[in-house]
Amino acid sequence: MPYRTIIEPFRIKSVEAVKFTTREERREALVRAGYNVFRLHAEDVLIDLLTDSGTGAMSAAQWSAIMQADESYAGSRSFYRFESVIRDLTGFAHVIPTHQGRAAEHILFRTRLRPGQVVPNNNHFDTTRANVEAEDVEALDLVIEEGRVPGLIHPFKGNMDLGALERLLETRGERVPLVMVTVTNNSGGGQPVSLENLRGVRRICDRYRKPLFLDACRFAENAWFIKTREPGQAGRSPKAIAQEMFSLADGCTMSAKKDGLSNIGGFLAMNDPGWAEAARNLLILTEGFPTYGGLAGYDLEAIARGLEEVVEEEYLRYRIRSIEYLGEKLIGADVPIIRPPGGHAIYLDARALLPHVPPLQYPGIALANELYLEAGIRGAEIGTVMFGLRPDGSERPGPMDLVRLAIPRRVYTQSHVDYVAEAVIAVAGLRGRMRGYRIVSAPKTLRHFTAAFAPLE
Ligand SMILES: *Cc1c(COP(=O)(O)O)cnc(C)c1O
Repeated sequence: MPYRTIIEPFRIKSVEAVKFTTREERREALVRAGYNVFRLHAEDVLIDLLTDSGTGAMSAAQWSAIMQADESYAGSRSFYRFESVIRDLTGFAHVIPTHQGRAAEHILFRTRLRPGQVVPNNNHFDTTRANVEAEDVEALDLVIEEGRVPGLIHPFKGNMDLGALERLLETRGERVPLVMVTVTNNSGGGQPVSLENLRGVRRICDRYRKPLFLDACRFAENAWFIKTREPGQAGRSPKAIAQEMFSLADGCTMSAKKDGLSNIGGFLAMNDPGWAEAARNLLILTEGFPTYGGLAGYDLEAIARGLEEVVEEEYLRYRIRSIEYLGEKLIGADVPIIRPPGGHAIYLDARALLPHVPPLQYPGIALANELYLEAGIRGAEIGTVMFGLRPDGSERPGPMDLVRLAIPRRVYTQSHVDYVAEAVIAVAGLRGRMRGYRIVSAPKTLRHFTAAFAPLE
């Protein structure tokens, strides 16, 4: 088509009203929530950008597949459909459903890791790291240098540092049971990994005879970045690119709450029959029989259909463009963000925006609360509250102080995104009046979910 406007590649069949609140109502809601937006009632949020996990809208085709599902305990028709879609996409022989991504991680790591080992990854996602460390294994992040610098532009900031991987395998190879690569790299800002880099990781894994697993939660968004940014890939379909990504690996863990376009679910897939057998044995203990793994038959149907829809070109063009569009508006107004925008979220750099709020007064909390108060928008602090607590109970600044605005899939329209841009720019203009916070109460681990704060004078 000759027109440049990228439209939402769907029309809306069913709508859900959003609730408008006054600034005074939001102020009271924030007080009740202990100034922690995780503790708000979602109903009191106008635009909810807390996460893109499980928050997407399903298609009419998914809903109708749900009605057709087979709820048999063993050997359900819905499992075989799920399995065949995943085999076609990934090429992996063994497909093991789980209730979400972290359950797949738990099963893989529980069955394969031994204390004292090391698992390299570009960046471990927080649940991945926690599941590796739960086995007394070191979770080592080997993303390229460029991936650690928020303002630096690079097409594939999620790439693995191949030199560092090789040095690890050369010096401590006997301690490495498997290599992982996260596509896209969530903890690094939703940044993609190139095919060339994945091929390089594969060559190194072959040389040292190590299995390679993808953390594939956002594989389709990663495939779109390869198509649009990597030389020679423009003419290929996102599905063909995704198939090549998976063909370079020996297995994957997956959360269907992201690029499965579903509200719940996940899977573990692999080629090795011995590894799969051990995984299925643990699955039966913790998730369920191998043909449902903690999911209903209707979830398996929704995921199977979602995995077909997520690689459609029109969908991915709209998806990635809507994030980039928000990013462009914010960059145009000099709001500091991680650049370039990644696949699923915009990360506001609260530390850069609020230089007068030191990290231990939580600039990310200050900015997230102001966004809610002024505009009813909910984002998530990814900073000192999330990463600053040491095991001995002391605190240090997190690596960055960010507010993530994660965009749910197929939920908000362009005017919603325009509203978010306008509101973020207006709130950034209020930076001078924002004050830091102190913690009133917090649990010893994963404190960001439930801590209560008070504003500093
Ligand atoms: C969400 C996510 C997970 C964990 O998946 P859950 O379904 O939330 O358990 C693992 N890795 C990455 C990269 C993710 O984004």
